[in-house]
Amino acid sequence: ALQVRGVTKSFGANTVLRGIDLDVPRGKVVALIGPSGSGKTTMLRSLNGLEIPDAGSVTVGAGATSGLPALSVDFSTPVSKKARAEQISLLRDRSAMVFQQYNLFPHMTVLQNVIEGPVQVQKRPREEVIAEAEALLARVGLADKRDSYPFELSGGQQQRVGIVRALALKPQLLLFDEPTSSLDPELVDDVLAVIKELAEEGWTMVIVTHELAFARQMADEVVFMDGGVVVERGPASQVLRKPQEERTQAFVRRLL
Ligand code: ATP
Repeated sequence: ALQVRGVTKSFGANTVLRGIDLDVPRGKVVALIGPSGSGKTTMLRSLNGLEIPDAGSVTVGAGATSGLPALSVDFSTPVSKKARAEQISLLRDRSAMVFQQYNLFPHMTVLQNVIEGPVQVQKRPREEVIAEAEALLARVGLADKRDSYPFELSGGQQQRVGIVRALALKPQLLLFDEPTSSLDPELVDDVLAVIKELAEEGWTMVIVTHELAFARQMADEVVFMDGGVVVERGPASQVLRKPQEERTQAFVRRLL
């Protein structure tokens, strides 16, 4: 479903990504792990144009149910600003991001937050979107919070709204940026349970996470990044239990 080749990205003199390849087959879950500053978040954000790579390519496969054709953006080939903006916008339509800090609109109710993208951006019929949003909210145990504002919710509830908001976009790819690292420990499990359910349902997901136990349970593949490169990748059980590379060993030992 997703193929990344040779993605590089610098912020000024700071080279953050040094040629990253990534493959996420449809229905699979890939966890990106690595020390702080290794480039995980920048990689994730490059998948939907929140960061623009300096070079490399991002390809999203054809949509299974949507009938969308495959989409490939080659950042190494210079194009006009307008053409690039158009590519980025198409890329962004394929995925939805769940943020560490939830990023809900504070002045909108839960329901308004969830329907905003599908109605305003995707131009889907409002009544249909509301019905879907209500069903999704019920699924994560938040049916009764529909008319609440974000500040009235716990962090765990806000993050479940963040997940519902992403699902309402019906993306091909779900991207999670450290979805539980802002949460109080007792709220983490509820959010992880929802993400695990989505994995079992067959969503294609890329998750940046510090929760190695969680990554081990649910990721099909774990990718360990350090210093802007992929140091090691493989099945979760292998990378987390029997890492081959010294840097992976040191990292995993510290966190597990
Ligand atoms: P963490 O686990 O701490 O979130 P990370 O592996 O996700 O780290 P990134 O957030 O991708 O790492 O950051 C990698 C490097 O890129 C850091 O040195 C950071 O300071 C730099 N960086 C990220 N975004 C920007 C930006 N918009 N402008 C300048 N530098 C940035």
